[in-house]
Amino acid sequence: MKDILTVTGTGDSLFTAEFPAEYSSLMQPVAALIKSCDVRMTNLETNLSDFQHFASAYSGGTWINTPTACFEYLLRFGFNYFGTANNHAMDYSYGGLLSTIDTLDKYQVAHSGTGRSLDEAEAPAILEANGLKVAIFAVDCSFKDASRAGRATHHIPARPGVNYLRHERLYKISPEEMALLKQLALQTKINFTRQMSIDTGFLTPDPEGIFVMGEQKYTSDPNAKETVCNPKDKERILGLIRQAKAACEYVFLLVHCHDNDGVKHSNPADYLREFAYACIDAGVSAIFGGGCHELRPREFYRDCPIYYSLGDFIYQGLTVKHLPADFMEKYNTDIFATAPEALLARSRGNKVGLHLHKENYQTILPKLTFRNGKLDDCQEVPVYLTFDRKDEMNGLPQIATGTEKEEIEHIWQKLNSSFKL
Ligand SMILES: [Zn+2]
Repeated sequence: MKDILTVTGTGDSLFTAEFPAEYSSLMQPVAALIKSCDVRMTNLETNLSDFQHFASAYSGGTWINTPTACFEYLLRFGFNYFGTANNHAMDYSYGGLLSTIDTLDKYQVAHSGTGRSLDEAEAPAILEANGLKVAIFAVDCSFKDASRAGRATHHIPARPGVNYLRHERLYKISPEEMALLKQLALQTKINFTRQMSIDTGFLTPDPEGIFVMGEQKYTSDPNAKETVCNPKDKERILGLIRQAKAACEYVFLLVHCHDNDGVKHSNPADYLREFAYACIDAGVSAIFGGGCHELRPREFYRDCPIYYSLGDFIYQGLTVKHLPADFMEKYNTDIFATAPEALLARSRGNKVGLHLHKENYQTILPKLTFRNGKLDDCQEVPVYLTFDRKDEMNGLPQIATGTEKEEIEHIWQKLNSSFKL
């Protein structure tokens, strides 16, 4: 029987610059592990363009862009698939998004998660791997509404953007707190204009048992779920997964989600767990999450691994070459300041930021072996993103050894053993 498939998926490739010559030898063992798999996936957490496109008025945090010629560096890891559904996909508006797609097409690599229309963005990439047909979906849960791809009608063209899963968040309070909240709403007049919009049909009425205060929804129902998937988005994606499963031997999913459960950042939001289980029920064999920059637990559901977050695989957030005026204005620097000057202002003189936290530089690289449709083996190799170096080596992945390896193994073991199923 020939049905054997080896698969790897990484954390986020927040990749913005060329790799220094010194990195070549450290890169080899990581690249060799990736290249030993048939399916080799990463989340491309950047735009590929040459700064010829205007920036969006919003960004995924930092306006991330990588010059197209640099893409060759990322290819050296041997990836044969790139997920593009993430919160940076629209940092350089439609021009940047389309340039990323065109660049990936130029290099003839498989990708999914963004497109010129929702039909394109939601479609899986189809790969032939070890004689098997594999479908890979990429879904973004952490996006600005303006990033969503849209469908064409008979009269209006489609909108480019990301494949998305929205969710609803409810804040749970007691009946006494609810009475107080309603009183506050009246006193502050926060809902006055909103109520007018409901009365005139521009907004739909709020569901029974839900009270909206400004933008937030509250309930005093103790059994309500704090976060749930948008049912339409979930069903749309599940339908596509079922179709793909009927046509392919394997289906995999990359999901980009920043949201936690409100208790601990390493805990996935309830809606992500709801979505992950539903995707596996629909035919997905493994889920590779990212977005929150650090590791989150791995769970096996029906013997399929769910990596809620693999953290970062490359973290070059500080080596982005240029930043738009919006960034400079936000951090009160001159709009013609250099990117390093502006980033220094954001970090309040290097006192705050993701780059100061080692957990954003610790990941694991899974190697999954599937046999006849079932998971047969799961290896997880600790990878360290060279946190201790503060030069251009910073953020580049190497196979962890010694105390770095022990530290990551300890974190991984603790995350998984304390995660309540
Ligand atoms: Zn992200």
